[in-house]
Amino acid sequence: MARVYNFSAGPAVLPEEVLREAADEMLDYKGSGMSVMEMSHRSKVYDQIIKEAEADLRDLMQIPDNYKVLFLQGGAHQQFAAVPMNLMKNRKAGYIVTGQWAKRAFNEAKIFGEAVELASSADKTFSYIPDCSDLPITDDMDYVYICENNTIYGTKFWELPNTKGKDLVADISSCFLSEPMDVTKYGLVYGGVQKNVGPAGVVIVIVREDLIRDDVLPGTPTILKYKTQADADSLYNTPPCYGIYICGKVFKWLKAQGGLEAMKIRNEEKAKILYDFLDESKLFKGTVEKKDRSIMNVPFVTGDKDLDAKFVKEAEAAGFVNLKGHRSVGGMRASIYNAMPKEGVEKLVAFMKKFEEENA
Ligand SMILES: *Cc1c(COP(=O)(O)O)cnc(C)c1O
Repeated sequence: MARVYNFSAGPAVLPEEVLREAADEMLDYKGSGMSVMEMSHRSKVYDQIIKEAEADLRDLMQIPDNYKVLFLQGGAHQQFAAVPMNLMKNRKAGYIVTGQWAKRAFNEAKIFGEAVELASSADKTFSYIPDCSDLPITDDMDYVYICENNTIYGTKFWELPNTKGKDLVADISSCFLSEPMDVTKYGLVYGGVQKNVGPAGVVIVIVREDLIRDDVLPGTPTILKYKTQADADSLYNTPPCYGIYICGKVFKWLKAQGGLEAMKIRNEEKAKILYDFLDESKLFKGTVEKKDRSIMNVPFVTGDKDLDAKFVKEAEAAGFVNLKGHRSVGGMRASIYNAMPKEGVEKLVAFMKKFEEENA
């Protein structure tokens, strides 16, 4: 069996231990005589799986009691709509547009009300995070929205915007569980788990209780009301059972690694190896302003399209896969999520050095 080093932005690498455990339990989950894929979401055995997953996530992120955790379907895109439907009481909200996903959310919100672009980094191909210390936030805005880690462009909000007292809503899909975060600074955060947490099909919403309301926008489908799923502990309808089970395993894996403090140290170490090399390389260049660099997604280029393509091809042949940049920006991108071992990054850098020498 040959596992590659998978630098995919998502769906992405998962911890090998988790995959092995899931394989061991595939045919008979803990004496139940069936796979988790085959069991009722209302069964006792599944109830324990989802409850334990929530408890472990709460523990990892230190989620306060006045926040609900919802395990939902529909991906981040469904949240682009669900957020305004549930929270846009005054039909007005502020959006900070730092990349394609933020832009999608911004455009979706326009369907439901007045979405105001508070700041944008589109002028320099989203290669930085704009100054968000004094945004034109008005009193009638229901929330301020950010995409905290911009998966495609490789930028991260290292400082949260000054929301002038408004609730902050964040898409944390690609930085989910990469480091500790203070949940109390947000009204709502959500993340599709297929970047850094689990298999595609699950999106986790963490929302402060007072934002879970009955008076959502008229026309909001029952299934998209946070209240529907909050009241039913995410079991209003069939949840993505197997995906939640894998997420639960990843949460336990993270706890065994020392939790999010330990992950932060590791993730910073891994990112430093790659960024230090990019900063000294004569061939490869990082594309993002240094102060805004993501430690999860690292985009880089040679400056020559043909050479980029050659690099991606040779890297793949050497066992470093999915390094091609997003189709909208080109170049390369190495996503180095929690489950990417440090050794994977070290070996990638060694390969890049060799490529640089051969193509000087
Ligand atoms: C991948 C990604 C999305 C899109 O997720 P889907 O689950 O495909 O809807 C949205 N936001 C961020 C930050 C992402 O990385």
